[in-house]
Amino acid sequence: MRLILLGAPGAGKGTQAERLCKTLDIPTISTGNILRAAIKNGTPTGLKAKSFMDAGQLVPDEVIIGIITERLAEEDCREGYILDGVPRTIAQAEAMERAGIVFDAVVSIEIADEAIMERMSGRRVCESCGASYHVVAVPPRQEGVCDSCGGQLVQRKDDAPETVQRRLEVYHKETEPLKAFYKERGLLRPVENQSSVEATSQAILRALGR
Ligand code: AMP
Repeated sequence: MRLILLGAPGAGKGTQAERLCKTLDIPTISTGNILRAAIKNGTPTGLKAKSFMDAGQLVPDEVIIGIITERLAEEDCREGYILDGVPRTIAQAEAMERAGIVFDAVVSIEIADEAIMERMSGRRVCESCGASYHVVAVPPRQEGVCDSCGGQLVQRKDDAPETVQRRLEVYHKETEPLKAFYKERGLLRPVENQSSVEATSQAILRALGR
């Protein structure tokens, strides 16, 4: 199963991807997590990406295309993968098509901007492994500590309200057109956000015919 998870920032792509990769036994590839790790390690890619990310802007397409083609060529992606947060522009989608990267389905998680603004204030991510939590909806077993790796949970810099607003604008302008792009290719599976993480996971699996 080769899958793309589309949706606004804060729609729950990361949370759903983590659950789906266990159910489907394929890796999740999150360009956001790859970039945050690159920043933490001070790599040239990280240095290039940091100012864009802090400002809530997209990192240039050529940086992303390089990262994703390299990552998808790795051994663990042979049986399939879940892409979380990529492609985010038509140019990225076209570059992947040209590179022969194909998909079985594109799940678009649908949620109103107002719900996202509310939700983002409670989001926490693991500094070490990138797992995401929410203080109310998906709390860790121990406050501030990652269930999977014991790392520290922090609030992302780009989850500040004015940056979230900017990221939503960028989403509507740059990323949302991908829905029409994949609809034309018969791949789009829109899924309404549900009142719980579990219910949304079920809705996604139904949309995938599982
Ligand atoms: P995310 O964790 O997916 O919300 O990504 C956080 C930030 O990383 C975004 O706001 C962008 O600045 C950058 N980023 C992640 N994935 C992409 C992508 N596919 N294209 C451009 N920028 C990206």
